[in-house]
Amino acid sequence: MADIIQLLPDHVANQIAAGEVVQRPASVVKELLENAIDAGATTIKLIVKDGGKTLIKVVDDGKGMSVTDARLSFERHATSKINCAEDLFHLDTKGFRGEALASIAAIAHVDMHTCLEEEEVGTHIKIEGSKVLSQEVTVKPKGTSVSVKNLFFNIPARRKFLKSNQVELRHITDEFHRVALAHPTVQFYFYNNGGELFNLPPSNFRKRIVHIFGFKTKEKLVPVTEETKVVKVSGFVFKPEYAKKSRGQQFFFVNKRFIKSHYLHHAVMASFEGLLRPDTSPGYFLYLDVEPSSIDINIHPTKTEIKFDDEHTLYAILKSTIKHSLGQFNVSPVLDFDKDQNLDTPYMLLKKQAHQPGITIDHGFNPFRESGFEKSAGRSMLKPSSGDWESMYVGLESKVGMDESFSTVHLESDTITGSIFEETQGEVGPGATTFQFRRKYIVSTIKSGMLIIHQGRAHQRVLYEKFLKSITVKETLSQQLLFPLKLNFSKEEISVLEEIKGSLTSLGFSFGRFTEDELQINGIPQLVNEAEVGIVLDQLISDYQMEVNRNGFTQSEVLSKVLCKSLAVKTGEILNFESQQALVNALFACKETKRSPFNKLVYITITGTEIDNKFI
Ligand code: ADP
Ligand code: MG
Repeated sequence: MADIIQLLPDHVANQIAAGEVVQRPASVVKELLENAIDAGATTIKLIVKDGGKTLIKVVDDGKGMSVTDARLSFERHATSKINCAEDLFHLDTKGFRGEALASIAAIAHVDMHTCLEEEEVGTHIKIEGSKVLSQEVTVKPKGTSVSVKNLFFNIPARRKFLKSNQVELRHITDEFHRVALAHPTVQFYFYNNGGELFNLPPSNFRKRIVHIFGFKTKEKLVPVTEETKVVKVSGFVFKPEYAKKSRGQQFFFVNKRFIKSHYLHHAVMASFEGLLRPDTSPGYFLYLDVEPSSIDINIHPTKTEIKFDDEHTLYAILKSTIKHSLGQFNVSPVLDFDKDQNLDTPYMLLKKQAHQPGITIDHGFNPFRESGFEKSAGRSMLKPSSGDWESMYVGLESKVGMDESFSTVHLESDTITGSIFEETQGEVGPGATTFQFRRKYIVSTIKSGMLIIHQGRAHQRVLYEKFLKSITVKETLSQQLLFPLKLNFSKEEISVLEEIKGSLTSLGFSFGRFTEDELQINGIPQLVNEAEVGIVLDQLISDYQMEVNRNGFTQSEVLSKVLCKSLAVKTGEILNFESQQALVNALFACKETKRSPFNKLVYITITGTEIDNKFI
């Protein structure tokens, strides 16, 4: 048989290698920004167009390249950063593989200007799909600028799989954050389609975080510092009350390199033990400095995971350092989220004055007098002076049940068609066919037996369909605010809000001015409480980002899901009789009744026969 093995031509090999390095525009941004940092730049400009699909340009004032280096930099495995394998263990640069520029040039139109400080003139190279088109002399200030145009122009399949400009821009922004947070003394500019997104002056870590994530971040930060032989830890964690369900704003940097680590994340979570609401995790910006020889950054091609020599010690140090900081800054009073909600002060009593418990002494009390002892012990000796505490709770259930959170819900009970419900009334009272069980379920009788409905999930389903409908048919129930609300958001959050503005408007939000980090709200959906708008929008933004990244859902579906989750009644809320009935009716008027929008079971049925069988 003839020989069949052949060496791939360079441009094909480069294209294949590019698949590893460049997944999307954000990967190019990461590589170019890191090269600028490695070149010792003090000012870096990032310019993108159309989510980086049309243009990504990075301009730095770093050390620049000679004519020969400029040409060589596009060769595969061409790097100035290591000479031998041993150097891998003393890395102080971001790059070391010498693959990035070669990969990028294999799949895009690249234009590079570069000039050494001591030189009068520099080099201008044009290269497309690994082919050098021209190399000329140019007069440019010291430093390097690399433009990458038409990414994946020669791999249409890859280009087709890029997401919308907004989603790609979000990935780019994530990479930008990571580099900018690791290098606060470097000045960064970031422009998108001609508009300035970030202008970050040289500063310290705290200010850099606040510049990026907005003014309101300032009050959330608790400083963390510790220096041991193994590691120097510095940075910030968010106060526990700002913990979120989404995993945004969580950053580890090891020797100024952004890394991901489930293990270290776990250490942070462990240090917050007992302080967080269920299913939430805090934001953090943690900088670890370790001996370069004690880590191996070689294990992942895109280099966001690294291997530590002694992970267990790091874990322990991190955990105790954060715990200490939380204690020191007095943010760890023991918040007990596990306590029984049934023991909470009911809402109606929150504003009531507490009564001073009094003691009435029975002067004539004689413990040896006939049967009196048992009876009087708990009652007359320690009887509260002003009425019986139990009586304060009498009738409360029904009052609390009228709570506006649910009774304002506009329910489409009249559209119910089926009649699976018992027509004859039970003994409980006229029309009574439901009751609430453990503040979690609504039990209802039906012809064939019993329905047990999960109140939270049922309400989610009702709201979900309602929101979906109002987004699609654009019929809204909105309440105009007498005094418009002004809320602060980070630039990134504002850009998400701008992206979903249309759908939010269909849901009943009405927006005034959007500025860089402030948003004016003139109207809100009827279901949303004015005091909660900020929380609802915060949750909406972070959940939306999470869901969108998971793909497959339309914007209206994602928003309806997010909103129904935050507005639906929760376990623990008391529903009065009318609310129970309205909820049950509304549920069975839905298109889908069995599953919540999150694909969880909404109700179960127990048939009469099943009950009868229990009594055999
Ligand atoms: P690596 O960064 O892994 O070395 P790259 O392909 O990213 O590989 O870059 C190749 C080489 O080109 C670098 O080692 C560096 O010498 C040079 N280089 C790239 N970008 C710049 C820049 N912005 N300024 C100066 N030199 C650069
Ligand atoms: Mg590089």
